[in-house]
Amino acid sequence: MALVDTHCHLDFNAFDRDRLDVLQRAQQAGLMRIVNPGIDRDNCQAILRLCETYSELFAAVGVHPNSALTWNQQTLGNLRLLAQHPKVVAIGEIGLDLYRDRAPKELQLRVFREQLELAGELELPVIVHSRQAESEAVDILSEWVTQRTNGSSPPGVLHSYTGDETTAQRAIAMGFFIGITGPVTFKNAIQLQRMVMALPLTCLLVETDAPFLTPHPHRGERNEPAYVHLVAEKIAELKHRPLERVSDITTANAERLFQWRLV
Ligand SMILES: [Zn+2]
Repeated sequence: MALVDTHCHLDFNAFDRDRLDVLQRAQQAGLMRIVNPGIDRDNCQAILRLCETYSELFAAVGVHPNSALTWNQQTLGNLRLLAQHPKVVAIGEIGLDLYRDRAPKELQLRVFREQLELAGELELPVIVHSRQAESEAVDILSEWVTQRTNGSSPPGVLHSYTGDETTAQRAIAMGFFIGITGPVTFKNAIQLQRMVMALPLTCLLVETDAPFLTPHPHRGERNEPAYVHLVAEKIAELKHRPLERVSDITTANAERLFQWRLV
């Protein structure tokens, strides 16, 4: 079984004590790749250094909507330079977060749009974070998708998606993947589980968003990439498919999206 954790924050302090152990456990759990998205310019630089040390680790560079206040005149140019690194497979995580409300919406929108444009220019897919703004984010993405020059490759993923099924279907129709995280394993996640049952496997990615969103039965502990199999197992159970099949398809989906460049 070869799974991909398509979204994990291994650069965060939570892993400072035992990062190497975490990566070894991920390998033992059969993970072939891990994607570590950025949240601001400084942590993007730290992620690229980690990617140079660990071969299975790949990066996305971008400014998270909750970090939109760090955006300045240099940021776009900085990201453009960082994105030249051979291990950068996407621009992200970028988007809209009206739940945490850490930056004014107007600023979030501008930072989101500028980074979408950058992704278009660099022909990279995007990792989209949206909270309480899913349908608005998808509206913005639909404008962007029509302007992309590399229209045949998948445009991105709605990571840790918690919106409704109709909006997910709109995104899928544009070629986006839907990222599924630990909460799908929670007993009360009825809406999310129904959505997973309804969406085709060919549109799903598995992710941990570690150190957050720890799946059952580790809820309450720090999350880590090795636990991504718990998300895949839940999807297999919900869709009445063998785990092998879920693993093969979601890994193929991740490869199609991120097109790992040989390093
Ligand atoms: Zn994240």
